[in-house]
Amino acid sequence: MKVAVIGGGILGIALSKGLAGKGHAVTLFEAGEELGGLCGSRDYGPFQWDRFYHCILPQDRTLLRWIEDLGLEGRIRWRRTGQGYWAGGTCHPMNGIGDYLRFPLLGLGGKFRLAWSVFRARLLRSPEGLHDLSARDWLVSTCGKAVYEVFWKPLLQAKFGPFADEVAAVFLWATMRRLFGARSRTDHRERLGYVSGGYAGVLRRAERDLERVSVRILKGAEVLELHEERRVSSSRRETSRPSCRVRFRGTGGIETGEEVFEHAIFTGPTPLARRIARGKLEESVRSFERNHPSGTTMLGVVNLSLVLRRRLTPFYILNLGAQDSGLTGVIELTNLLDPEEETAGLHLVHLPRYLPEEDPFFDLEDGEVFSLMFEKGIRRLFPSLERKAVVAWAVDRARRVQPLPLAGSRPGSPETSLSWKPPFQILNPSLLECATLHNDEVLRLADRFLEAGPKNGIFPPFPPTSP
Ligand SMILES: Cc1cc2nc3c(=O)[nH]c(=O)nc-3n(C[C@H](O)[C@H](O)[C@H](O)COP(=O)(O)OP(=O)(O)OC[C@H]3O[C@@H](n4cnc5c(N)ncnc54)[C@H](O)[C@@H]3O)c2cc1C
Repeated sequence: MKVAVIGGGILGIALSKGLAGKGHAVTLFEAGEELGGLCGSRDYGPFQWDRFYHCILPQDRTLLRWIEDLGLEGRIRWRRTGQGYWAGGTCHPMNGIGDYLRFPLLGLGGKFRLAWSVFRARLLRSPEGLHDLSARDWLVSTCGKAVYEVFWKPLLQAKFGPFADEVAAVFLWATMRRLFGARSRTDHRERLGYVSGGYAGVLRRAERDLERVSVRILKGAEVLELHEERRVSSSRRETSRPSCRVRFRGTGGIETGEEVFEHAIFTGPTPLARRIARGKLEESVRSFERNHPSGTTMLGVVNLSLVLRRRLTPFYILNLGAQDSGLTGVIELTNLLDPEEETAGLHLVHLPRYLPEEDPFFDLEDGEVFSLMFEKGIRRLFPSLERKAVVAWAVDRARRVQPLPLAGSRPGSPETSLSWKPPFQILNPSLLECATLHNDEVLRLADRFLEAGPKNGIFPPFPPTSP
């Protein structure tokens, strides 16, 4: 079958490889100059690394298998890492029950209730009922209003902004379970991994792999419109079935044009699918939105990366309690990576700010973002961090990153959307019922779709193009 995969992020790459492996003739359209989407990399000056921060958890089996299949197993590194919580003008380690019990902003009863709320989330195996409840109501019911106000509320506000009161409990539950899964069963310390050289090396290998299985890769080809049309073969009317006309704009050597496919699979964010679907396909997008409503409320991120001469904190993640820095957290990537091996001995710190996709912060110039997030952001928390400690900085933006489940908007079954539906369908992370966005889940989506899809030869040959 002639298939178009639209979007060359991790999901599009995995789908293209799997479909080509089943004998389909696959064309992969990617709007950007390179494959990789959110996993793409950038030049920081002294070194190259991912634009955004990525870690691997020990339980990310599908992702680890994918990296192994690419022959990169030997480049996976594991390190002990830790988390902290910034409150009351200082950082507190948050790596075990003892740390919760030492947390100074809560009385003894509050500390126990906080530890209990975390432990209870860990014990809860199924998210049944957590779709309808907001994270706020769930936390208030497990640890009480006082603990919620002091500990959880600032975190929810930093991470979800205007959605802090509405985000569904299931999302927080999934995040907590994922992070606790990184803790060793013996010493309860967090252990995270990364691929030496970052995702750039992984993506290079993945692209070579696609070429090997004859996927036609069109980089710099943005799909502008998708139309359904019916193709009829004059000799075999019975083989008539709808197909998808793909109109795309080419850059960098790719010619602008249009082409017809028996099936087009869109892997980008749902709001972008809505922009390009025309005619009958618009109803497919609406139906997908009704089934997977998290894709209509997306959080984006503006991320300031700092390359520093010195270490800032001992933590991989520093969560931020009540403060007015405008930051969502502090991710010190070189507390995971080995700086000598990966970042020219320098320290790489990411300062993300999560925002709704239409927030005007996305439109600020890089210099304004730097001034707001450095001078009025991180320096409010760490006044001793001087400008001269910054060797290089960069701003990256992604308006649509995280599909956000809101309380009361229960998703439909992903299985319906994971079944093979020519001539057009959407497959993207809004199909993840409760999990936070990460590559292991995304690759599992691709696997589930490929298992459910048709085997080579089930469909009759595509009728020739009618004049
Ligand atoms: C700040 C941040 C931190 C993260 N941390 C982690 C982590 O620690 N661990 C982890 O596993 N994951 C992490 N992730 C998530 C990870 O990056 C995503 O899971 C993954 O990149 C999603 O891949 P995707 O293919 O679904 O989407 P995307 O990467 O968004 O790819 C979609 C692609 O579609 C293309 N596209 C869209 N519209 C069109 C069109 N009309 N025509 C052609 N192409 C189009 C886009 O250009 C893009 O390349 C993080 C993400 C962010 C932003």
